Amino acid sequence: MAYTINEDCISCGACEAECPVNAISEGDGKYVIDAATCIDCGACAGVCPVDAPQG
Ligand code: SF4
Ligand code: SF4
Repeated sequence: MAYTINEDCISCGACEAECPVNAISEGDGKYVIDAATCIDCGACAGVCPVDAPQG
């Protein structure tokens, strides 16, 4: 089960650099996680200021 980024994302970009498998990229209005690449580590949730990544 991959993490997903919800609509609370403010596109700060902090999570992108933290992802060990480069699963996060900037999408349309918010950042997005590639479900096929995400290994469920939770690092993105740990740095997000608005709790947008949900596992
Ligand atoms: Fe990347 Fe881990 Fe977040 Fe998945 S849970 S997107 S692997 S940082
Ligand atoms: Fe969006 Fe949170 Fe990632 Fe910032 S850290 S881009 S607010 S999901």
